[in-house]
Amino acid sequence: MTVADERSGQAGGHVAPGGQRRWRAGTVFGTLGIVFAALMVILVVLLAVDQQVVTAVAARLQGETVPWTLERQRLGRNLEALRLEGLRVLTARDAGGRDEALFVVRMLAAQPGVGDDPRAAELVAEVEGFLTRVAGGAGRSDMLEWEALSARLRLLADDLSVEGGQRVTVELERMTRVMRLSRYKLMVSVLLMAAFLGSSLFVLRWLLILPLQRIRRELSALDGRAAPPDMPLATLAEIRAVGDALVRFHATLRENEEVRRKLEHLATTDGLTGLCNRRHFMGLAADELARAARYQRPISVAIADLDHFKRINDSFGHAVGDQILQGFAALVGDTLRQTDRVCRYGGEEFAFVFPETAPDEAARLADRLRERLAAAPLLLADGRQVAVTFSIGLADASAGTLEEGLAQADRALYAAKARGRSCTVVAEPRRLQP
Ligand code: GH3
Ligand code: MG
Ligand code: MG
Repeated sequence: MTVADERSGQAGGHVAPGGQRRWRAGTVFGTLGIVFAALMVILVVLLAVDQQVVTAVAARLQGETVPWTLERQRLGRNLEALRLEGLRVLTARDAGGRDEALFVVRMLAAQPGVGDDPRAAELVAEVEGFLTRVAGGAGRSDMLEWEALSARLRLLADDLSVEGGQRVTVELERMTRVMRLSRYKLMVSVLLMAAFLGSSLFVLRWLLILPLQRIRRELSALDGRAAPPDMPLATLAEIRAVGDALVRFHATLRENEEVRRKLEHLATTDGLTGLCNRRHFMGLAADELARAARYQRPISVAIADLDHFKRINDSFGHAVGDQILQGFAALVGDTLRQTDRVCRYGGEEFAFVFPETAPDEAARLADRLRERLAAAPLLLADGRQVAVTFSIGLADASAGTLEEGLAQADRALYAAKARGRSCTVVAEPRRLQP
């Protein structure tokens, strides 16, 4: 991501050149955090408002409604007492009883609660006036009037009692309604919050965890020799930057691997013939000898030298000499078994190691090579053919060091040259020291 990309990404979503929208992690998780905080604030405000309503209703119940209801009930009881005392005024046997009852009636009528309710004040005044009037003696019509007054008193007392109860009930119902509503709000809010958290986790998994797992997989499989990491376009800018860095890192690894391979090739291969070079051969051959010694297996080494190569150079030129060296190396590569090793030992000399092979069998291989060379003279680039022969000395290398084996093979090579060239000589087995 360029610096300009980074800047433009600060405001939130940014459309990448590929057309896919990408987001900065800070923006995504900041937005999620703000939405979560807003949900929490809304929930707290809703609950606080409901709490306030409940508190207000409770305060009103305690400070107003319940005292008012108690007052109503007390007034109702007083009216009932007034009614009974009134009846006593009418039914008392003597004047003393009537006066006493009338006194109680007046006392009840003077209660402060009576004046607070206009209906009660009016009815009580009417009853008090009636009783005062009939206190001296009541006739039949007075008794009828009293019954009517007595019924009105009882009705009013009942009404007052019911009114008080109703007002308390209304307040309690309101409180219950608010609390039930509050419970629903809380449930809905918790569900919303759970849905939000669930979807946030899903977004987190999709935006962050899965891409990170992918990066981890690609990182653990990162290899300069393998295909480049397959990084799908991530939505988060930071993840995409890591993915891009991974791809660039792989490209560097691949270049390094390429360079390493070239260097290794240069360090181990002979530039003219493509065979391995002497230094590399010595390492490989020493390993083969060590393995043969460990398992007590036969192993042979050999040195071959092209015959009269100087003459070829003189007759055809050095470049043709080079072509012949290349052709000979190709023929050797074709003829030898996969397990055999050969190198350009120097000039027009070649060294061999034949694992799992006794000198006699190696000699047969050498003869086969000679036969092939004799049957098909080497072809030059200009179409000419040049007949080439070589001499080869072989030695058993199953006992002793590689250098000793090669020295023996070299001596056998000299013997082959001495015998007239184009032949194979196997070194005599070394005599064991007494
Ligand atoms: P002999 O049969 O006794 O081996 O005779 P020879 O002529 O092959 O003798 P010698 O081994 O002494 O000569 C090796 C010649 O190989 C000398 C040198 O000019 C030539 N030579 C060595 N390396 C190269 C090379 O890389 N390219 C070419 N064209 N010739 C080379
Ligand atoms: Mg030579
Ligand atoms: Mg030679």
